Amino acid sequence: MKLTVVGCSGSFPSADSPCSSYLVEADGFRLLLDMGNGALGELQRYCGLYDLDAIFLSHLHADHCIDMCAYFVARYYRFDGGPAAAIPVYGPEGTEQRLTTAYADTPSEKSMSEVFDFRVLQPGTLEVGPFTLRVDQVNHPVEAYGVRVEHGGRALTYSGDTGECAALDGLAKGADLFLCEASFTDGKEDVPGLHLNGRQAGEQARRSEVGRLVLTHIPPWTDPSVNLRDAEAAFAGPTELARPGAVYHL
Ligand SMILES: [Zn+2]
Ligand SMILES: [Zn+2]
Repeated sequence: MKLTVVGCSGSFPSADSPCSSYLVEADGFRLLLDMGNGALGELQRYCGLYDLDAIFLSHLHADHCIDMCAYFVARYYRFDGGPAAAIPVYGPEGTEQRLTTAYADTPSEKSMSEVFDFRVLQPGTLEVGPFTLRVDQVNHPVEAYGVRVEHGGRALTYSGDTGECAALDGLAKGADLFLCEASFTDGKEDVPGLHLNGRQAGEQARRSEVGRLVLTHIPPWTDPSVNLRDAEAAFAGPTELARPGAVYHL
């Protein structure tokens, strides 16, 4: 499995990074986890516009899905060859309606589904191309999912957006790489059921005995070095900050 960080800024884009988006590849199959603000532009550095095979949307906050509106334009109005075929898009209930509303002017209410094959997420296991995805609901104000992507005996876990929750214990257990959000700073922001801080991400990594912790979804107004330090204090394994363009081979 190859993971490329397309964008990792939390809540809104930074000068250096789009919002959440991660490209996972194996056996020539390309799965994109989230497509937040600015991700579609950056994505084209790493794969062709029409080379994605499936998309997973962890939840419907704009910083995780809003570039799907831009991607609709690219697929629906493709000049050469006509509209691109529908690819599977896994998302919470109501994903199609939300994106159609956000776009505001699709030719019909069903236009999105001509280029996206929407499939409703629920906790459980599904096969997507060569990957096995284990999906569970996490702790966020809207319906939100974390995901464990398995292939060839290796596992990558993406927390999505979440506060502390038991679901992460199952999703992250023994994962080779844990892409965990750390939006908050310990001792500064303390809003339950919304986001993790660096210490909590580190504690989760330790509990789950993951191989590597990669902190992500840190907003531009947060000092990432503090969150990294807090995570490293709780987790003894390799720990680093996500950055756009970073590649991991699992
Ligand atoms: Zn977010
Ligand atoms: Zn969110």
